[in-house]
Amino acid sequence: MLSPVSSDRLNLLGLTRPGLEAYVAELGSKPFRARQLLNWIYKRGEHRIEAMTDLSKEFRAALAERAEVRTPEIVTVQHSADGTRKWKLKADSAQAYEMVFIPEPDRGTLCISSQVGCALDCSFCATAQQGFNRNLSTAEIVGQVWLACRELAPGAVESAAGRVITNVVLMGMGEPLANFRNVVPALKILLDDLGFDLSRRRVTLSTSGLVPQIYRLAEEVNVALAVSLHAPDDALRNELVPINRKHPIAELLAACWHYLDEQNGRSVTFEYVMLEDVNDSSAQARALARLLEGHPAKINLIPFNPFPGTHYRRSSPEVIARFRDELLRRGLIATIRRTRGEDIDAACGQLAGRVIDRTTVRLGSKTFGLVAQS
Ligand code: SAH
Repeated sequence: MLSPVSSDRLNLLGLTRPGLEAYVAELGSKPFRARQLLNWIYKRGEHRIEAMTDLSKEFRAALAERAEVRTPEIVTVQHSADGTRKWKLKADSAQAYEMVFIPEPDRGTLCISSQVGCALDCSFCATAQQGFNRNLSTAEIVGQVWLACRELAPGAVESAAGRVITNVVLMGMGEPLANFRNVVPALKILLDDLGFDLSRRRVTLSTSGLVPQIYRLAEEVNVALAVSLHAPDDALRNELVPINRKHPIAELLAACWHYLDEQNGRSVTFEYVMLEDVNDSSAQARALARLLEGHPAKINLIPFNPFPGTHYRRSSPEVIARFRDELLRRGLIATIRRTRGEDIDAACGQLAGRVIDRTTVRLGSKTFGLVAQS
């Protein structure tokens, strides 16, 4: 059994602008109160309702009785030698999830989680080894960004901490499209000009390829899409990313191009983890190029980040460069992701958080994540 969350007050971080307007109306107040609240929460970084001084005393009292701005609780913070920072955040009594801030000269990227653990069982990912515990709520997803703003620029009152955080990527723990119901409102709050006011090109959702949800996402919200491809053919992808057995590559790519058409997007980024002697040959680079040639695609090659118990090895820098050059020669856009925060296990695929009570989840005919432990 999971222990209940620490408070039964409504967490205002979970409400989009229309949701907050409806809530304020329920309390008998005018819609402009919602704007004032958003301004306090997201522009001024205030979480104490009693400190929101342009709201009437009565309204503050009524609100504080029923609602609060509850941010995730920090369990630990780790600092990497390269400036990357990782926070472990409390989910329930024993569970935890993680977020990572990656500073670069021209931007600051916050990588957030969408689930505690993951059910998709990708063979090269540390999160998968943990199994799945639960979805994060909208407030817990938004709360990560809010908390990071406060942690990174204490005292900053502008949205996204005076732009210390310029980009947000849903590439932490979990499969965001498997938590569609909570992730979509969170994305809307990230984009809302009264919320974090991030541009749609600076918010990226990364998915392992849940095809029906990519079509639904195209109807709902406009963010940049990244897809974890990792293999140029179905046989290998079935092994690395098991959801491929349900939604093979051709279907996945059709959904990607549909998403771009609907959202008037520039390109889809395809992530490709470089695993020695598994998916890194020149022939595989050529096969990958054939799949994506002529489409608005960017390929991001990710050097594999090892974790305890894995049997995979990272491709050598020479092999990764040769793979990239094969792609470039065929006119594709390909980059190599620089590994960051490795010394604190904060790099791609290394986030493990703490997943104790694992839940069994059924996705189609396959059962992912197994019950056990404690
Ligand atoms: N579930 C989503 C988002 C989380 S993972 C997805 O699959 O896209 C973010 C990226 O890190 C994905 O491309 C994932 O495949 C990659 N990744 C996972 N494990 C990795 C590892 N050990 N080394 C390098 N990249 C990894």
